[in-house]
Amino acid sequence: MDGSEFRLVAEEPAAPARRVRVLLPLPFPEPYDYRVPDGMDLPDGAYVEVPLGPRRVFGVVWGDALPRDPDNTVPDAKLKPVARRFDLPPMPEVSRKFVDWVAAYTMSLPGNVLRMAISVSAALEEPRLLTAYRLGDDPIPPDFRLTPARRRILDLLADSPPRLPADLAEEAGCTPAVVRGLADAGILVPVPMRSLPRFAEPDHDRHGPTFSAEQQHAADSLRKRVEEGGYSCTLLDGVTGSGKTEVYFEAVAASLRAGKQALVLLPEIALSAQWLDRFEGRFGVRPAEWHSDLNGPTRRHTWRAIANGEARVVVGARSALFLPYPDLGCIVVDEEHETAFKQEDGVIYHARDMAVVRAHLGKIPIVLVSATPSLESLVNAEAGRYARIDLPARHGGATMPDVTLIDLRKPDAQPPARHWISPILKAALEETFAAGEQAMLFLNRRGYAPLTLCRACGHRLQCPHCTAWLVEHRLTKRLQCHHCGFTARTPESCESCGAEGSFVACGPGVERVAEEVVALFPDARTAMMTSDTLIGPRAIQEVVEKVKAREVDLLIGTQIMAKGHHFPLLTLVGVVDGDLGLAGGDLRAGERTFQLLHQVAGRAGRESRPGRVFIQTHMTEHPVMQALAAHDRDSFLAHEAEARQQMEMPPYGRMAALIVSGEDDRLVDQVALRLGRTAPRGRLELTILGPAPAPLAILRGRHRRRLLLKGPKNLPLQPVLADWLSQVEVPPQVRVQVDIDPYSF
Ligand code: ADP
Ligand code: ZN
Repeated sequence: MDGSEFRLVAEEPAAPARRVRVLLPLPFPEPYDYRVPDGMDLPDGAYVEVPLGPRRVFGVVWGDALPRDPDNTVPDAKLKPVARRFDLPPMPEVSRKFVDWVAAYTMSLPGNVLRMAISVSAALEEPRLLTAYRLGDDPIPPDFRLTPARRRILDLLADSPPRLPADLAEEAGCTPAVVRGLADAGILVPVPMRSLPRFAEPDHDRHGPTFSAEQQHAADSLRKRVEEGGYSCTLLDGVTGSGKTEVYFEAVAASLRAGKQALVLLPEIALSAQWLDRFEGRFGVRPAEWHSDLNGPTRRHTWRAIANGEARVVVGARSALFLPYPDLGCIVVDEEHETAFKQEDGVIYHARDMAVVRAHLGKIPIVLVSATPSLESLVNAEAGRYARIDLPARHGGATMPDVTLIDLRKPDAQPPARHWISPILKAALEETFAAGEQAMLFLNRRGYAPLTLCRACGHRLQCPHCTAWLVEHRLTKRLQCHHCGFTARTPESCESCGAEGSFVACGPGVERVAEEVVALFPDARTAMMTSDTLIGPRAIQEVVEKVKAREVDLLIGTQIMAKGHHFPLLTLVGVVDGDLGLAGGDLRAGERTFQLLHQVAGRAGRESRPGRVFIQTHMTEHPVMQALAAHDRDSFLAHEAEARQQMEMPPYGRMAALIVSGEDDRLVDQVALRLGRTAPRGRLELTILGPAPAPLAILRGRHRRRLLLKGPKNLPLQPVLADWLSQVEVPPQVRVQVDIDPYSF
């Protein structure tokens, strides 16, 4: 017993100390109780540091612990005190409610949800002194070797204020070691910085474009909703190029005018260099960006600026939803139909759906934006739960492109063996180049070939950790697993039959199509757009600029090319394999393929020159292909809706998945079978499917089984699942994850 405790016992009985519940960003079932030291002012939501065993951890005050809780009999003196409070505005009540709501809905531990809100515990620490770099004043010694990376860094600093090494490296596409090398040579000079520059105030009074009557109407009704405040959800549905972005900027402006913050969620922040430029064009400054690639200092700086209200507009990937905005005035979810909004590991949630919940809790308007809205949102709009604004026409009278299906079953449409471009598409490319216009070839498959096999014995190269083929990448000269990132060299000899140099590539990847095109059109200037060739927003932006400057005749790429880019001279889009997304039994495959191909097609003819789209397919009669060719989205959606309704699938019914995973196949199987046996089969309104191997039966070395639960729309899933799960003991080597509203099934 130490002296202080002795003294406490010896003194007059003092009033009982205040106790608070502190939620830790750790996987515990609930907040822990701590004692508030005398004189410490600790409102709900305060960020604190508390002892946890031998460690000290960050946490958030989640409310007062009830003093007379019969279970809470630990005496004051035994209860550990809060160690300190951080000098930060407390986490707002709505953010805390949101954490609890998401945890309950997704059946996750609240601490795991909180981790997304605090993001990096370093966000709480006092900012450290940072070291930025500027160009030195002395001339560069003549014997100093200027590599391209070094040169890029010097160029970046030529007329810019001092910058952080991590930022420089990111932008120059090199490692921070290159920056350090230049500093060691005395060519760059360190500049101590107390903090990164402040986020400037966006100017909401600058003028956007002069709107058409339809755009004006749409903008006005969004603006009114923001001005009136209160929860509302609006679906902004308009073809690509109809000006949806310009229109929702008015909602952002209205929020700023009311002195509030605004959040724009984008599916993939890395794709948004063009978006950022447009924002800057409209508001005069850049917004705060939030995504997983932010480096440590920038992340901390941005988090603080959002938490204290300095950053007025945040554009971010799904995790930006959890940040502690003190005064959020509206949320926009752009490309609301995108699969990338679904987070599949850790806390499994759909950011669009949770954004609607966040808007509801915060009593603010939300706008869902898409050219191909999800069936979920359309059904909600039809039922009157969402308001709906349509922008049916392309801005400036540009027409929708002409879509032609190339039936690959017809002999005269077939490309030669081991080629992928039909003579029809080849002729269209020729015409396009002859007219001085640009074209784009789309194949949603990275790498050179999706499959590599041994010519001698048929052995296929498979990932050692996943149920997936290894994909050959010629640009990097590696085989790659697209699920876990495993890479290897192509083996010299076949591990199965010993034959040497016998491996051949099967099927096309985007690199292989590029190879074919170069052979067909040696004079065409081509550029690749894939996530392997272009790393980071700047690299993408560079290609975009080249296309705009007419330095590129033909773009070849995967889906990163499909989104958002606006190329005035691009008049031809060729889809190399339209059927790719339709394989497999996924019920959403049709909807997703339609959305993706519609988006790709939307790149053609965005200005005065009319566009043409050619889709190579073996299934010209498929509803997706028919809808694309006829520009008949609505009858396709009606068809989809009917199929789902018949099967009571979402959005007409509810689903949840249980994923059982672990390294030991036998244990995983046991747990899955036990779950199968205890499933609530007696309830007639429920359907239980499985256990069956999950879509990726082995992922990162973990075996995976899946059970699906399906029920009527009004089914409260969580209590049913909780009851079910409570009946099965799960050994620590096995994990059971709940996926409410699974995306692919
Ligand atoms: P969407 O988001 O629907 O694809 P955008 O907002 O990107 O459409 O608009 C397409 C292009 O047309 C952009 O370059 C945009 O700046 C331009 N644009 C849209 N509306 C107008 C307008 N009223 N006046 C001038 N340019 C416009
Ligand atoms: Zn793998």
